[in-house]
Amino acid sequence: KVSSLEPREDHRICVCVRKRPLNQRETTMKDLDIITIPSDNVVMVHESKQKVDLTRYLENQTFCFDHAFDDTASNELVYQFTAQPLVESIFRKGMATCFAYGQTGSGKTHTMGGAFSGGDQDCSKGIYALVAQDVFLLLKTTAYEKLDLKVYGTFFEIYGGKVYDLLNWKKKLQVLEDGNQQMQVVGLQEQEVCSVGDVLNLVELGNSCRTSGQTSVNAHSSRSHAVFQIILKSGGKLHGKFSLVDLAGNERGADTAKANRKRQLEGAEINKSLLALKECIRALGQNKSHTPFRASKLTQVLRDSFIGQNSSTCMIATISPGMASCENTLNTLRYANRVK
Ligand code: ADP
Ligand code: MG
Repeated sequence: KVSSLEPREDHRICVCVRKRPLNQRETTMKDLDIITIPSDNVVMVHESKQKVDLTRYLENQTFCFDHAFDDTASNELVYQFTAQPLVESIFRKGMATCFAYGQTGSGKTHTMGGAFSGGDQDCSKGIYALVAQDVFLLLKTTAYEKLDLKVYGTFFEIYGGKVYDLLNWKKKLQVLEDGNQQMQVVGLQEQEVCSVGDVLNLVELGNSCRTSGQTSVNAHSSRSHAVFQIILKSGGKLHGKFSLVDLAGNERGADTAKANRKRQLEGAEINKSLLALKECIRALGQNKSHTPFRASKLTQVLRDSFIGQNSSTCMIATISPGMASCENTLNTLRYANRVK
């Protein structure tokens, strides 16, 4: 069943938090789970579970969001409260965006469904696939059938402030502003898709392109933003667009001193883009006249998805449960708290 909830005008962004389970490594290292979700919109960080260390005493902290999902929540459940309510808007000429934000290893890609690793990750159950499923359902309803829409997919990566097409051998693409102040990624491959299976093939293709030549899948993906878009066109013209963004890992800063020059530059670029994203989302929420899109490639590229009259956004902030990730988790929660 497709939800017909409309994004609310007065609340342009829905912000949710998702906690993943402790993994094997954390369990082996006897890391403690310091996160509880006492109700479906509250996240508590129990820093006092820290081994008593009076030099670094911190209190428990509580955060409220639109929704908070504990480690038993499925991708379907997360989808129902985040991206699903936005899907129908693209049939009404809307622009929708869903971000996965968080530390590397906290579950962004697991949520989006952008990775195949055979065993534990199945991209047919991620948000890419769930959006595609609802898009193809809605396409066949009487309300939208007559629009004669075609569906296209794009998949690209933003790394070091540059855009690379994941459906075209990582071809480097230019981003230009056209006469209508719209940003265009020049030459971006738009592949027509006719079924969920087609969409999954694109995700698989883009993902293999993303990680080719990389020694570690996670090492690379943690430093780049991946943008997957489902585009509706009518008579060759843009009708609506859903952008699903698997952001670069937000863990930066603390260990840049010991990182090499390349890592420092990468880290600085990522910090800059995540900061720009926060500022843009905040500016929109406050209906400010100036939105600082130009501050990063990420916000430039997503500009048209932000400012349209009929645009809506959701963010899934993913967090690791362990005490060892406490600082990163707090940073994620603070960021999510600032954009809501
Ligand atoms: P990220 O993309 O944020 O770096 P991943 O999505 O790759 O993180 O997740 C890291 C690991 O944790 C993967 O093996 C993934 O399958 C697992 N994982 C993440 N979230 C969950 C979850 N909610 N339930 C079960 N396993 C998860
Ligand atoms: Mg990832």
